[in-house]
Parts: sequence; structure tokens; C-alpha cells
Amino acid sequence: MTAFTWDRLEEYQPVVAKMLLNSLKQGLTAHAYILEGAKGTKRVDTAILFAKTLLCKNLDDNFNPCGVCHNCTRIDHLSHPNVFYVSATGEQIRKKQIKELLTEFSRASVEEGPRIYIIDEAEKLNQESSNTLLKTMEEPGAEIYQVLLTTQPTALMKTIISRAQILHFKPIDRKKIKQDLLLIGVSPRLASAISESTFNTDMAIKMSQDDKTEQLVDLAFTIFQSFFKRDSSPILLFKDAKDLVLESGDAADFFLGVMIFIMKDVLNQKFRHRDLIVFDSETGMTEKIGEKIPQKIIEEQIGLMLELKAKLKYNNINSNLAFDKMLACLERGIVNGLSCSTGSI
Ligand SMILES: [Zn+2]
Repeated sequence: MTAFTWDRLEEYQPVVAKMLLNSLKQGLTAHAYILEGAKGTKRVDTAILFAKTLLCKNLDDNFNPCGVCHNCTRIDHLSHPNVFYVSATGEQIRKKQIKELLTEFSRASVEEGPRIYIIDEAEKLNQESSNTLLKTMEEPGAEIYQVLLTTQPTALMKTIISRAQILHFKPIDRKKIKQDLLLIGVSPRLASAISESTFNTDMAIKMSQDDKTEQLVDLAFTIFQSFFKRDSSPILLFKDAKDLVLESGDAADFFLGVMIFIMKDVLNQKFRHRDLIVFDSETGMTEKIGEKIPQKIIEEQIGLMLELKAKLKYNNINSNLAFDKMLACLERGIVNGLSCSTGSI
């Protein structure tokens, strides 16, 4: 992976990148920031980039840190004495952690220059820690920057919010997530499935590195392909691989999600809504299915799968049986072009 720079941040969070970079260039940075947004929206990378920009000795013309100087490399390894990263242990960020942070800072070992506290999951700061933190925010003169990361800004103390500048991190564009996955060598099919399943960039990378993700995607496609083969049965295919699907709620949900994307692609392919197609590398198969079944039945199948997805999430149902029924229904629709008159799964 190439170093995280302002140019790269701009690809993910253009508004945040512009705001922060402009304040840095103009020397008008705030001393406390709240980076608010969902996980995997590049908040941690931004906090680290901010710290590097303040400490790097070889910034380029666009204020990008060099990534190789002593300061940059130590920040990357979270071993720079002026940069502190605290994350919640368990439910709360304890006062002890904040105290430790302050003690560290008061030590003589701290190098000259700005000091940056990065506090992840700041919504877990308890009352005491918040108060300890507030005291440092009020400490005049020192070149101290506080960067608080949170998914729930309303859970922060009002007094903290009022002293900080809030930066809102938007969900990352799916196309961007897919592009990133393709860049690291993930297959188009897998990249499409993952980028439709999560907005979280870190999660997307993690999923792409887990063999099971690819196995689940492959299984969904093998099942759809089996509808065209005389000698293979989707229900038997599922039976052989059901442990993989039923291993966890997440796996079942992801697998079903892929099945739904494929079926939606059939519909979008049929109506030439090319921009809505998820698996653009698989249009041969989806087109073939679309030629066989009428729109009404495709929509019915999608409806049934969505219903099952919701049930798997919120109800305690026999998922094995429910998947078998769904596949039987799908077979009836795709192979025979018949409606699944049995009703709900
Ligand atoms: Zn540097």
C-alpha cells in the first residue's frame, strides 16, 4: 500500500481533506478536532496523517508528509513520543488511560514540537476521563492537538464538543471500495460482492483476505450455474457447503446478499440498466437467466430472498430448512419459469 497522503484522503473524503489541509496551509488549525463518522471511513488514517503533517520535516509542496523521515516512520509505528493513540479498553476509556497519557506528555523524553493525542472511540470516555481531558484542552500555550474519533458524536460531553471542530466523515463510495480491491489484486467478482456488502474500507480489505468470503461468492455462482446443468442440483450443492454458509449469521447474511445481487442483476440486465449491475464481469450468466424467466417471477424471487434475509437476522428460524425451501423455489422459477405458489419461506 502506498503511503496515506492528502491526495489520497481527497479521494475518500474530499470535504474533510480540503478543510483540514487548508487550515494546515494557512496555519489556522484548531487544537481539538472531532472526527465523526462510521468505522472504516478513514478517520484513523486522517488522524495519523494530520499528526505526520505537523511533525514531518520534509513536507512536499502540497503538504504531504514524506513517509520516510524519522518522525514519519515513528508515527506510522505509533512509537513517536509526541503522538499518542488511545483506544477504549472494554466499555469505557478509563481515567487511568487519560492520566497515563498526560503523565507521558509531561515527561522530559517528549521531543520538541507539537504533541498530538488521538483518542479513538471517544464516545466511551466516561465523565471522569472527559473532565481530565477538558483540563488539558484549557491548558494555554502548549502546542497540543487533540483528535477525537467517534461514531456517536452525541455521546460526547457538550463541553468537549463546544471546544472542538467537528469533521464529518461520509460513507465511502462503493465504486471507490471496489477500485481499491481491484488494485490489490482481488478478482472483479469478489470485489463487486464485497463492495456491495460494506461501506467500511478496513472491513472490505479484511473480507478480501478471508478465503471464506470467496468460497461463499463462488458457491452462490455455482448454484446459479447449476440451474442450467442437468446433472447438478442446487439443493445438493448447498447441502455439501452448508457448514460454510450456516457457520455464522454474518456468513449466511453475506451469502444471501450475493444471491440477491445476482438476481437483481438478472432484472437490471433484462432492462439494460447497466449502471445498476453489481457483477459486471458476469453478465453472460445473468442475461441467460433473464431470457428464461419473466420479470414477475424474478421480482417474486428477490422478494422471497429479502424476506429470508430479514428473518435470518431478527428471528430464530431453522436456517437450513429455510435455505432449502428458498433454493427449491429458485429452481422452480429459473428452470421451469414458475411462480413459487407456496408463499412465504
Ligand atoms: Zn516525514
